[in-house]
Amino acid sequence: MNEIIEKVKKKDAHQKEFIQAVEEVVQSVKPVMEATPAYRKAQILERMVEPERVIMFRVPWVDDRGEVQVNRGFRVQMNSAIGPYKGGMRFHPSVNLGILKFLGFEQTFKNALTTLPMGGGKGGADFDPKGKSENEIMQFCQCLMTELYRHIGSDTDVPAGDIGVGAREVGYMFGMYKKLTNQFTGVFTGKGLTWGGSLIRPEATGYGLMYMVAEMLATKNQELAGKTCLVSGSGNVAQFSIEKILQMGGKPISCSDSNGYIFDEEGIDQEKLAFIMELKNVHRGRIKEYAERYPKAVYTPVDPKCDHNPLWNHKAHCALPCATQNEINKRDAQNIVNNKVMVVAEGANMPTMPEGVEIFQQEGVLYAPSKAANAGGVAVSGLEMSQNSGRVSWSREKVDLQLQGIMKNIHKTCVDTAEKYNMPGNYVAGANIAGFVKVAEAMMAQGIV
Ligand code: NDP
Repeated sequence: MNEIIEKVKKKDAHQKEFIQAVEEVVQSVKPVMEATPAYRKAQILERMVEPERVIMFRVPWVDDRGEVQVNRGFRVQMNSAIGPYKGGMRFHPSVNLGILKFLGFEQTFKNALTTLPMGGGKGGADFDPKGKSENEIMQFCQCLMTELYRHIGSDTDVPAGDIGVGAREVGYMFGMYKKLTNQFTGVFTGKGLTWGGSLIRPEATGYGLMYMVAEMLATKNQELAGKTCLVSGSGNVAQFSIEKILQMGGKPISCSDSNGYIFDEEGIDQEKLAFIMELKNVHRGRIKEYAERYPKAVYTPVDPKCDHNPLWNHKAHCALPCATQNEINKRDAQNIVNNKVMVVAEGANMPTMPEGVEIFQQEGVLYAPSKAANAGGVAVSGLEMSQNSGRVSWSREKVDLQLQGIMKNIHKTCVDTAEKYNMPGNYVAGANIAGFVKVAEAMMAQGIV
């Protein structure tokens, strides 16, 4: 097993997020690999860490001043053993191959956990949407699609949104795909409601996260009502997590963006959440404006010299990282534990560094890793694909009920699998092993391809 990790480190030494994700999964699935010589003979893990295909391409476009800009676009088609590649597109200046490989790798197991037939993929570009005009966003999305369209399709690879890619960007990419192929198909999820989107898809990741938290609390005979929640991020996942916390009677007390965070001891209520949604989704403003509008809230800007994130150093019952990878380091995890947080559930992908995960597990915090906790988003994407295939559209209640059922099932799968392998309460082992076995079995059945 160590050999596999060493090989990845040697081959892709600079892809630190990918190495981090591989190390976690490889450690978790050790007992399965040891007990299954057929997997070892078939080099199952060696094959899983190698993407089936990586597409990397130039995206040249013209900005509003008439100047030519060049970005790099990607699609990592990680694993198609259980269905077409499926995973979001991320637009952020930090995007590189290593980050997309980590996301595609995680996505493969996450999608397996949903029980829906979806393989793993991820894509994006090192394009920074901040400060760009509406026209520039459209230009960029269209230029990217002039290359990407030939590699995707409703039965091949179905992208969706992620950081920096919401309904607006999905719309522009889908529009160009349709023009180039002359086909109206379910090639994207996260589409608008009038053109093939699913009800509850925008809400799904945040709502699903909170359904998972409710299940975790129930194992201790607790419920969310009356509980305070620290939330990071203020994008899609954070907004709908906050909405569901409110619906469940909990009290969200923070959110953030890449410049800083707000702490609102009185709680973020419906009206304040509506302000955040308008600020972020319409005006595309910064979270510090929340504290200008609600002066009792405290805004703390990011201090690049600080060795921890003060957002995670408040008393609360639940901590819900919903911004980005590696946003909780060892010190943050220790602060979370010292503040007696009961539940940490990851809305973002891999937001906790490995030393942080170790602390949560040692200290008995109920900790759900992203591939289980945020699978609600891709699950409803899977339901959007089903609706598109059948050319039907389901009610809000029907989709929400299915989402609740899927999250309950993922929770049970994690708990049961962890118990089976003598690691009760270890959601990391449960999620990794269950996701891995499903993908491995499909790969075994399909031969060496
Ligand atoms: P959005 O773009 O809607 O929001 C991202 C939020 O995180 C923003 O508040 C952003 O602040 C903040 N953020 C992004 N990068 C950084 C950074 N480097 N440092 C600090 N803050 C940062 O994205 P989503 O809400 O869709 O995604 C958030 C997380 O959830 C990601 O990890 C994503 O992979 C994951 N996820 C999303 C799903 C979905 O359905 N959308 C599904 C499953 C997982 P700013 O505006 O300043 O950049």
